Amino acid sequence: MTEKVIIIGSGPAGLTAALYTARAQLEPLVFIGDVPGGQVTTSSEIENYPGFPEGLTGPELGELFQRQTERFGARLKYDTVTGVDLSVHPFRVTAYGGEYEAHALIVATGSSPRKLGVSGEADFSGRGVSYCATCDGFFYKGKEIVMVGGGDAAVEEAMFLTRFATKVYQVHRRDRLRAGRYLQERAFNNEKIEFIWDTVVDEIVGDQAVTSVRLRNVKTGEERLLTVQGIFIAIGHTPNTAWLGGQVVLDERGYIATDERGRTNVPGVYAAGDVQDWRYRQVATAVGDGCRAAMEVERYIAELEDRAYPGEAT
Ligand code: NAP
Repeated sequence: MTEKVIIIGSGPAGLTAALYTARAQLEPLVFIGDVPGGQVTTSSEIENYPGFPEGLTGPELGELFQRQTERFGARLKYDTVTGVDLSVHPFRVTAYGGEYEAHALIVATGSSPRKLGVSGEADFSGRGVSYCATCDGFFYKGKEIVMVGGGDAAVEEAMFLTRFATKVYQVHRRDRLRAGRYLQERAFNNEKIEFIWDTVVDEIVGDQAVTSVRLRNVKTGEERLLTVQGIFIAIGHTPNTAWLGGQVVLDERGYIATDERGRTNVPGVYAAGDVQDWRYRQVATAVGDGCRAAMEVERYIAELEDRAYPGEAT
């Protein structure tokens, strides 16, 4: 059976695309992927998504998106797409659980946390190295930890971690934060956060788990070993595009290149959310992207049907 549209990814972009295509009777098949609900489900608190004046957690918002999508008949599949063949039409989609065909694709695979690339990072991943404060913060109750990064995510997560940790050292490679002013003020007023400026992590040290990190001041060259039980890393993201095997054009940053209608270079393949957006990366913008891609797919499928059955269009 050939699907009208397959949506790959279940974050705000993918689920919004699913909602719109389901309501347009396109019976979307949605591949949930490795991170059900997408990265938003790792957010401890979302205060800037309109309609929720008191804020809500990422998992809460993810669940609401999913419920709304399923209400209109989108089929959610707990499987991950590993490859596609875009040289044929209908497109072929390969997942762990089987092969599929679709006339149109909406790619909403998001992005993954960027790695520091230092010694010890991979070895101690899950044993003191974490990329998700919401997921792992609880394990650091009463401990001292490092947070690396100076953006909104790093600052927000550092504040969240102070609920558990006795001390959070915020290590940033420059002498000022990239994070928005509001977050900065809250972090500067948080007594449990100590900022370590102009500093990078050169090595993560441990035995069974992390015991310390080696820091280097980039201005003075001074090195020191800081005793901590954990290190959280929030230094941006890399778009999840490897599975596309180079069949879709990427921009110079590695994000999928789309036009103002969410179209990629392959007719019938659309992209939405963080996988094509390095700039805004907000839930609100991902939702807009998903809506746009879905409306374009609706038009695309209608044109295909008009061509297949000329004269039947009303
Ligand atoms: P980001 O804004 O790109 O910040 C990444 C941070 O990591 C920067 O401070 C950067 O340093 C640092 N960094 C990058 N590579 C590094 C490396 N190799 N070693 C050490 N430090 C490194 O990423 P983000 O914080 O994940 O935010 C992404 C987007 O999501 C932004 O648009 C942000 O506004 C949004 N966001 C918003 C909220 C919110 O509104 N509450 C929460 C989370 C994220 P430099 O500053 O020196 O470049």
